[in-house]
Amino acid sequence: MFNDLKDKRVLITGSTKGIGLAAAQAFAAAGAKVGINGHRHDESLGKLAAAIAKNGGEVAYFGADVTKSAECEALVANFVERFGGIDVLVNNAGGLGGRQGLENIDDEFYDHVMDLNARSALMVTKFAIPHLRHAAKQSGKTTSVISTGSIAGREGGGPGASLYAASKAWLHNVHRNWVKEFTKDNIRFNVIAPGTIDTVFHADKSAEVREKIAGSIAMGRFGTSEELAPSFLFFASHACSGYITGQILDVNGGQMAP
Ligand code: NAD
Repeated sequence: MFNDLKDKRVLITGSTKGIGLAAAQAFAAAGAKVGINGHRHDESLGKLAAAIAKNGGEVAYFGADVTKSAECEALVANFVERFGGIDVLVNNAGGLGGRQGLENIDDEFYDHVMDLNARSALMVTKFAIPHLRHAAKQSGKTTSVISTGSIAGREGGGPGASLYAASKAWLHNVHRNWVKEFTKDNIRFNVIAPGTIDTVFHADKSAEVREKIAGSIAMGRFGTSEELAPSFLFFASHACSGYITGQILDVNGGQMAP
């Protein structure tokens, strides 16, 4: 089904664990050339890349802290140097960044959350655009940017997560603007908005809270990273979604407002 992903060059930010790692594994299994990323400049993560590639594809690790614009630029440059271009960018790095009620939010916390979820996607996309444009022109097919949004971006987020939720709403929205600017270049932009997915993201929650959240999900349970992965492949594949852009796909087991 995702045959056209073979040999596609796919850069996934924040992909050493959780949702990003599951997406990287699925792209590699489809025969893609995958760049995984985490904020650590740690050579041992090359082993993780090699383990993923055992199921197919080609995988390399690129350390870069995507909250820093200069590192976003270097990440894109290093990926392109290794694989010769970019066909698909997945902006997945992100996180809660802590919980603070409005009266406790200061400039430092604001910058921390917004840099992690908004600046990171903005800057990596900015530096990737010339390569995505070039790849689309060369192939005659669309190239693709996919960002990981959140149910919080629609619903305002849980206690203390207002900035996180707002940063994801920002991401949902900025994609629609990028559609207006770059559709002429044959680049598509789509968002995957997960509900509650069982990753370390929820490590701060007690069993009681987890049960309460599960009760708000029509399917009665958290989702898994593996259940999300095929949605990334769908938006990356020109054959599957070449006429789909500017969309937000909710993958949440029927979860309502948290
Ligand atoms: P996770 O903590 O398991 O994984 C986060 C990944 O991002 C890790 O690989 C980590 O190394 C990387 N990362 C963190 N900071 C980074 C930085 N500054 N530079 C580069 N890489 C960095 O989290 P997850 O649950 O897999 O979340 C992935 C994405 O999905 C995030 O954008 C998150 O906001 C979003 N999301 C998660 C859920 C959920 O329920 N888990 C729900 C909605 C949205």
